[in-house]
This record gives sequence, structure tokens and C-alpha cells, in this order.
Amino acid sequence: VKEKGMWHRVLLKVSGEALAGDGVQNIDPNITMAIAREVASITRSGVEVAIVVGGGNFFRGASWVGSSGLDRASADHIGMMATVMNALFLQASLESVGVPTRVQTAYKMSEVAEPYIRRRAIRHLEKGRVVIFGAGTGNPFFTTDTAAALRAAEINAEVLLKATNVDGVYDSDPKKNSGAVLLDHVSYREVALKGLSVMDITAITLCQENRIPVVVFNLKKPGNISKALSGERIGTLIDQ
Ligand code: UDP
Repeated sequence: VKEKGMWHRVLLKVSGEALAGDGVQNIDPNITMAIAREVASITRSGVEVAIVVGGGNFFRGASWVGSSGLDRASADHIGMMATVMNALFLQASLESVGVPTRVQTAYKMSEVAEPYIRRRAIRHLEKGRVVIFGAGTGNPFFTTDTAAALRAAEINAEVLLKATNVDGVYDSDPKKNSGAVLLDHVSYREVALKGLSVMDITAITLCQENRIPVVVFNLKKPGNISKALSGERIGTLIDQ
């Protein structure tokens, strides 16, 4: 991982929860606009940005299993559609600040977005368009973190930037332990072994196997997205 200097191509993962804000609505336009402005400034300096959005602000499959007869696969299909809602919202915010954007979905929704086509996604990035990947991996039982790791590997992104509501990875849960320490660096292995709650094991394993470093950082601090996108060291770095 380079300490300084711009990334060439990055995969930014924005969780649904991070888009929710504090209001009564499930998505906060102030947040999507803040993200859009930071992404805009960085794409103008030549960094290619692909985004995977979560859907937890609207619907998380696992929490609804059993309700009205929902099985996990059906619940997860609803969850994946929730990510598409975020993708379209974020696209509108990006376009309102002049960033050309394409949404590609993992399963076909041809009237609203392109289907995911790897080579086409790469072509969009090369032309300076931001590509937002919606509908996760397209498969139930997976998460959008895994989708982010998968797409990062597929498009040869140099890094996976995981935008969250916390400053990075802690050695224990900061909500339960007031003495929890923020880690500057942690290995994939430690994340898996210690069960550090940052990404699911499937996502971490994919990153490890494909040698994709992960930077976990706080989305809520102004300027942080630009810093992370431009290769500045913030938050926690996860690598070998
Ligand atoms: N989901 C899925 N397959 C995927 C990605 C997501 O089935 O490849 C579903 C799953 O139900 C999940 C929901 O979409 O709960 C929203 O995604 P996620 O929970 O990863 O969003 P985040 O936590 O990032 O907001």
C-alpha cells in the first residue's frame, strides 16, 4: 500500500446505515450530497471511483426472516432492491454536482439501470464516469461488503475504502468497552481470528486472497472521503 499519492482506481463502499442520518427519513439528502461533492472533487483530479452501496437503512434481509412467512432468500431479494434505491438516490446527487454516473445492477432492472457487465463498468471508469453497483452480488445470503470485495477484485481496484459511522477498527467493541483502542493497522488474519466486527469473514477472505487492502474510515467527518479517496492515511488499514 502506498503511503502517499493518489490511488488510480478505488472501490468505495458506503453502507446503507451511513446514508440514513439522524432524521425520520431513511435516507438523508444532506449526506448523499456531501458524498457527491467529495467524490466530484476527487474524480476531477483523475481518480477512478466505483461505489458499492448497502441497503441497511431500508431493509436488511436477516432481520425480517419469519415475518409474514418470509424466508431468507426472499428477504434478501428485498434487501438487494433496497440497495438499488440507495444507488439511484446517490446517482441523482452525483449528477446534480456534474459527475457523470452509471448504475449497474447485479440482476436485471433494465428500465432503471444497466445490468452489471464487467468490461463495460471498466470502460465507464476509464471515461471518468462513476459506476455505482447496486443489488449487491445478486445472490441471497451475501452482504454488500462481500459485493464490494468481489467488485473490487473484478475491476482491479487498488483498494477498498469502507466508509462507516466509526473512526476505524477497534481492538474491542467501543460501545461496550470505554477503553477500546483504535487500531492504525491490522492484518486480515487478526480481523478473522479476533472476530473484529468490521466486515464479514467472506468479504475479508476475498480481499486477502486478492491482496486488496481495506481502509476503514469515518464517513461523517467532513473531508474524510476526499482524504481516503486520494490515498491519505486515515482510519484503519487492513492488509497482510
Ligand atoms: N443482500 C443480499 N446479497 C448481497 C448483498 C446484499 O442478499 O450480495 C441483501 C441482504 O438482505 C442485506 C441487504 O441486502 O441485508 C442490505 O445489504 P447490507 O446489509 O450489506 O447493507 P449495509 O449493511 O451495508 O447497509
